[in-house]
Amino acid sequence: MVEVDAELERADRERQARDRAQRTRLRWIALTASSYAIDVLFLALYAGAGTVPAYVALAYAGVGTTLCLAYALTVMTGWNLNLRDPSLAAPSTLGGVLAQLLVVALAPQITFPYVVNLFTVFAFGMLWLGLRQAAAVWALAMAGSGAVLYLNEGRLGVAATSDYELMLTWLFLSSILSRTLVLAIYSNGLRARLAESRRKLAAALDQIRQLVDYDDLTKAFNRRSLVARLGDEMSRAQRTHVPFSVAMLDLDSFKAVNDRYGHAAGDEVLKAFAAVAQAAMRKSDVFGRYGGEEFMLILTASGTAGSASALERVCAGVAAHDWAEVAPGLKLTVSAGVAEYREGEAVEQLINRADAALYEAKRAGRNRVEAAA
Ligand code: GH3
Ligand code: MG
Ligand code: MG
Repeated sequence: MVEVDAELERADRERQARDRAQRTRLRWIALTASSYAIDVLFLALYAGAGTVPAYVALAYAGVGTTLCLAYALTVMTGWNLNLRDPSLAAPSTLGGVLAQLLVVALAPQITFPYVVNLFTVFAFGMLWLGLRQAAAVWALAMAGSGAVLYLNEGRLGVAATSDYELMLTWLFLSSILSRTLVLAIYSNGLRARLAESRRKLAAALDQIRQLVDYDDLTKAFNRRSLVARLGDEMSRAQRTHVPFSVAMLDLDSFKAVNDRYGHAAGDEVLKAFAAVAQAAMRKSDVFGRYGGEEFMLILTASGTAGSASALERVCAGVAAHDWAEVAPGLKLTVSAGVAEYREGEAVEQLINRADAALYEAKRAGRNRVEAAA
């Protein structure tokens, strides 16, 4: 049931992300349409000034409208989702290139600003095209512009025979610069959003690492990390023949703490115990919660005698600590059993020997350390 719920939740998240992407695409199509509208407006003004025939503006408007409607329909029906690139980056860029070349072919007298307008088209493409698509669009634009320029040799120009024409050309060039700047500002925002999501991802990863390696309550290592570190220590001891020991620590009469102060206070005691115990041990020792109110300490480079005296320090520190601020009137002690690693023994054997020693410590009256035979 839980798995089915998780599956449904994931499908729902995916659907929401897809819908968001589709809405973004429609916004981009609207933006593309307004860019075409600006071009049409200038062509109409050029036609009004007698620079180009009116059909050039009409033809361009027809091409722009057809392209934008086709993109919009493709996205609105969801058909684009079947494509390898649902953002339609390559066809949109190519459509833009062809529209500019159409103007040059029909009205070579205004070649200059409309060739420059390829910048607007490529700035759009720059945001979305992959390497191969970019190379293909670039090659086609090269070939297409070459052909159109070559076929109109001697007739290519810039409209600048009157003040009005000159102003139109200047304004049109300015609109091209404005459009590329708008796209630059958008891509800047995109980069900022990307940096922000990278930061969030790194924080989430840190949190996951914390959950995987550490105990949530005490923030000491969890059982998984302890067992992994134990494996590492064993391989090292086999290589270097430097001894190490493992201790199991168990809070004394902890059930009574829970019974007297409640489970929540018991949790606080576990947290405080982990801090007090860690303060009493060496930095190189590996300490963690093995489960419940049982903890494990791996004493690196330490044989039985040294380990036992280190643990006695921990036991004495816990017994002498003032627990009143955790729970009024609380007294807490801990018992420990310690075993030195014997070359060749398995992890379970080593832990079992430490456990047996702990049992002896409990049997002998608690608040003490016993070493395994
Ligand atoms: P002993 O000295 O023999 O170890 O006595 P004890 O009462 O500590 O031993 P026992 O194993 O009977 O009880 C352990 C108790 O620890 C029982 C359980 O409710 C409590 N405990 C285990 N995990 C947690 C925990 O995460 N939070 C709290 N508050 N209590 C826990
Ligand atoms: Mg116990
Ligand atoms: Mg106990």
